[in-house]
Amino acid sequence: MNGRGGPVALLLALAVLTSVPFLVDGLDLPVFYVVLLGSMAFWAGQATSWNILSGFSGYFSFGQGAFVGLGAYTVAVLSGRQSVDVLVSLPVAGLLSMLLGLFVGWLAFRLRSLRGEVFALLTLAVPFILAAIARTNPAIDGGQGIVLPIPSVAEAVGGFQQLVYLLFLAVAAASIGTAYLMTRSRFGWALFAVRDGEDVAEGLGVPTFRHKMLAIAVNSLFGGLGGGVLAIQLGFVTVESVFNLTVPLFVIVMSVLGGRNSWIGPTLGAAIIVLLQDRLAAAGFEGWSLVVLGLVLATLVVLAPDGLVARFNDRPFAISGVTLAVIAGLAVANVWGTPLDWVVGGLVAGVVVAFWPARVWPRWSLPFDSRARVAAITAPDPTPASVASPGGAASASAEAGSRGAEPTRATEAVAPARPPATRPGTPLIECREVTKHFGGIHALRGVSLRIDEGEILGLIGPNGSGKTTLVGILSGFHQPTSGDVLVGGVSIVGRPGHAVTRLGVARTYQIPRPFPSLSVRDNVAIPLLFGTPALGLTEARREADALLALVGLDGRADANPGDINLHERQLLEMARALATRPRILLLDEVLAGLTPAEADAAVQVIRRIHDSGVTLVVIEHVLRIVNQLAHRIVVLDQGLVIADGEPAAVMRHPDVVRAYLGSGAGAGNGSAAAGGVSAGAQARTQAGGRITPATPEGVADA
Ligand code: ADP
Ligand code: MG
Repeated sequence: MNGRGGPVALLLALAVLTSVPFLVDGLDLPVFYVVLLGSMAFWAGQATSWNILSGFSGYFSFGQGAFVGLGAYTVAVLSGRQSVDVLVSLPVAGLLSMLLGLFVGWLAFRLRSLRGEVFALLTLAVPFILAAIARTNPAIDGGQGIVLPIPSVAEAVGGFQQLVYLLFLAVAAASIGTAYLMTRSRFGWALFAVRDGEDVAEGLGVPTFRHKMLAIAVNSLFGGLGGGVLAIQLGFVTVESVFNLTVPLFVIVMSVLGGRNSWIGPTLGAAIIVLLQDRLAAAGFEGWSLVVLGLVLATLVVLAPDGLVARFNDRPFAISGVTLAVIAGLAVANVWGTPLDWVVGGLVAGVVVAFWPARVWPRWSLPFDSRARVAAITAPDPTPASVASPGGAASASAEAGSRGAEPTRATEAVAPARPPATRPGTPLIECREVTKHFGGIHALRGVSLRIDEGEILGLIGPNGSGKTTLVGILSGFHQPTSGDVLVGGVSIVGRPGHAVTRLGVARTYQIPRPFPSLSVRDNVAIPLLFGTPALGLTEARREADALLALVGLDGRADANPGDINLHERQLLEMARALATRPRILLLDEVLAGLTPAEADAAVQVIRRIHDSGVTLVVIEHVLRIVNQLAHRIVVLDQGLVIADGEPAAVMRHPDVVRAYLGSGAGAGNGSAAAGGVSAGAQARTQAGGRITPATPEGVADA
């Protein structure tokens, strides 16, 4: 279901499902089948729309009942009380619900802290508030409930149940179609990145706020539309019937059962749960359906949080084989139940096979899995990655876009392909009197410095001196408590992270933070999807391969980030940061923890990056390497710049020697202390080397 046949299969399924009411009529089947399919369609639409927000972006919501309830009451009030045609009141229901969703999103997403359980609780509160408003307000409900007439259009489609079914089907098709398109566009990828690491995604140029708002808009739109149709179906709307916790509970169980990473997972879960419920009710266990549902959820959360679709990709033949065999067996034996019972029996058996623990089950996988296809897309194309920038060499962004191609050549010949396109002496970043407080901790206490285009600036300092905090501020990851930061003359204070990325600042993380659910290649592709120009998925993957080749990770493109070692993860950090096409790259201890051989290889990579025209800030504990790489060194100590100048001079500066060899030096990083010993020994014999004063004036004049 992942290939190009997907859309065709979807449209075919839709055509067949649309014709069901007429088939049922023609074949003289009971209308019960239409009602059952309608119920599946309702839940498939609801679960899929919930999953777009909560599954794709990871913002777990209990708010589905609010959207469904608001949609239902909109239709009930407009069509039940004001006699507005349902074809008018339904779209209004969708729009009102979407407005509610956007309001909740605006409240929650503007404040960066509203994640996880806080977001879940906020969404849980909304349906309670709406229910109370509806119950107490006589203009809406007033506690009486609202009766709806049967819509007049029903005759045109063969009857009331047929109309309801077709409306549910339309909402479901739109919801599932949207989810499908999202998983194939940068829109869905932005949400995956948000789920895997929201602030990292923002730093890579993904406008996370916009995408989360879109996700909740889609979620609430389909929630409201589905609720509107539900009101028509119920014919009598009460607060208890539409604003209840069953809706969020059901959509959660369905999505978890089917699989939250997949566009089709919630639909699959909805079909199974609805069938199961129906069979339980038919067997006289109506009151037990919630018990069963709760048990299913508890079992899944413990045993298989990844859901059916992932399991099906893992063991497709076993699952489909057992399902079909059980259905066929029950049909042949014909000693129990109806055909529907046999289908449900087969599905339950299939689910059991799917979730059977892997260690007691042989692992089969599809011969044509998606990875192989990705390789086929990217491998045989001989065109250099620079075709990805169609704008011509004249524009700055096109020039930046071609960087992906330069490095591939650079990996073959060590000499740079062209002189660095830099303008030495031009300030790229100016940092003015920046302070940063984390609660009572003063991580930066008035830092002023300037980074020129084309240079390699070494940033050193003992642990806890504020280096990582400074990287966070320069890249828009943190907001300074006071002071100003200019990038290319533009202040970045108050700007969102992705806007700072767009100005050309990229960073790596001291502890690598790859997106765990994306392959190494797709980790690098993410920023390319959101850069200027924004690439399509195929182009982005191709250019990602070129960047992986630059850092020497081309052999690991298909790997999962969890399966590569620390050195490779550091290289991945660099490749991913380069994919934002930065003018300046802030490397936060990318050599930490590497063996000497790995560190030497990484230094070569850093030189190559610089040769391709990127200004660098290198944070590093091994002073030998900083001395080797940097044109200039800035030393931080306890949130202050204590030295700023040429490497040799900085190493002799008494404050630097004291910071490294003073009372705290023994407890610090071993290599730092070791590197500082030689510097310190020198400093004692040649006190008072030339050095730029570390005062703000001195920096501003420099
Ligand atoms: P370095 O990178 O030089 O080791 P950091 O910038 O990581 O130093 O940390 C500087 C100081 O700020 C430390 O005291 C650290 O504990 C504190 N700090 C850094 N980030 C945070 C944070 N997010 N919350 C609270 N304190 C922090
Ligand atoms: Mg640090």
